[in-house]
Amino acid sequence: MKCERAFQYVYSYLDGELRYTQRVMVHRHVRRCEGCGVSFDFERRVLALFKRAVSDTEIPPELFDRLRALVRREGDAGGIGPTA
Ligand SMILES: [Zn+2]
Repeated sequence: MKCERAFQYVYSYLDGELRYTQRVMVHRHVRRCEGCGVSFDFERRVLALFKRAVSDTEIPPELFDRLRALVRREGDAGGIGPTA
């Protein structure tokens, strides 16, 4: 497995979303490749910080709904122009 390939999987790997065979392949590469080992470690820390920040913050469900509606509207408009 090459470095670029390993990096395509970094977030899925850290989130535990990879299938077993892919996970093993990434894991093996990261253990042998120092550069990827350092980078994966860094991403893991960022992800952990981010998750902690999100769980510490109470985000009201209405806000989620509004955001989702906004994203949908952007999609309908092709993402061009203001959507006020
Ligand atoms: Zn590598």
